[in-house]
Amino acid sequence: MLKILFLSTSVGSLGSGEGGGVELTVQNLAQELRRRGHQLEVVAPNGSWLTDIPVTTIEGNLQIPVQTQSRDVPVCLPDNSVLANMWSYARQVQHQYDLLVNFAFDWLPFYLTPFFETPIAHFISMGSMTKASDRIMQQIIKQYPGTFGVYTQSQADTFPFAKECKILGSAIDLSLYNFNPNPQASLAWLGRIAPEKALEDAVEAVNITGIPLKIFGRIQNQEYWQEILTNFPNAPIEYQGFLATEKLQQELGKCLALLMTPRWIEAFGNVAIEALACGVPVIAYRRGGPAEIVKQGQTGFLVEPDSVTELVAAINKIGQIDRQLCRKQAEAEYSLKALGDRFEAWFTSLI
Ligand code: UDP
Repeated sequence: MLKILFLSTSVGSLGSGEGGGVELTVQNLAQELRRRGHQLEVVAPNGSWLTDIPVTTIEGNLQIPVQTQSRDVPVCLPDNSVLANMWSYARQVQHQYDLLVNFAFDWLPFYLTPFFETPIAHFISMGSMTKASDRIMQQIIKQYPGTFGVYTQSQADTFPFAKECKILGSAIDLSLYNFNPNPQASLAWLGRIAPEKALEDAVEAVNITGIPLKIFGRIQNQEYWQEILTNFPNAPIEYQGFLATEKLQQELGKCLALLMTPRWIEAFGNVAIEALACGVPVIAYRRGGPAEIVKQGQTGFLVEPDSVTELVAAINKIGQIDRQLCRKQAEAEYSLKALGDRFEAWFTSLI
């Protein structure tokens, strides 16, 4: 049995959607490790919650998501930083644990690593973002080989230390997602509504096809959202809000396909495997995580990045995809059991 302390992302509380896919990763891993009998504590910002898992919440102000900043941005902490408070807590309780696991992308936990006595594993949830974080990560991985985990190879390749990263993938609790063989005539778009996700491309595509687009997720950038509404006043879009997994999978399952149109190199794209688990094919730009997930012509279509014309062409042939194959791919490749095996082996190697 391992004793592990998880330190969550500091850009949002768990369950809020502000943290993006890493929120689901923390939930799933915590659940799977506990099921295996490991002792686990999850530390996260105030207001956080997980299903069936207690969370130690820490007060303080959130970090600004680094993807909204330029590559040259200096390292920045707000007054009464929740990130700093979480790591002060970690310092106090570290001797009760075999391993600390950092899920924040921020500079501070990397910088603090040599000052801790308990080993620290870093799960990196995005591709390269700033010069300062690349530099500190590079220094730490040199000193502590094997301690960095990432989602995908495409994500690792954005860093100068790509070869040092353990590729761990992602997974979902398949029992929470129901296969839906009978979709209605609508498409889905799912995720944080922020410029790096390029929702506008999906909206432009449905503005052409006329097939309604259901949009699920937290509006992280209001100005950006308003701009889309202004630019496409007549597009057939329906904003559905941010939904918890149970309701989300129910609504997602009713859709013909999921459109994934990220402008950045998506580290993984948890939404892709959630869609597949519901039997929903994925139409995505051929870059980053989705390009490693979608099976061309079998569980969806990968198209030329940033090409709305190709998105439209893919939407028009979505009927060719067998929804059963989508569910089967999720079952074969993205079970929590497989993810648990990989993480357990990684954690054990660090102790
Ligand atoms: N999500 C959700 N409800 C919604 C919309 C999104 O729970 O209404 C979750 C979704 O399940 C996924 C996450 O938001 O886990 C988005 O993660 P992804 O890895 O796709 O992208 P990221 O935000 O990490 O860039």
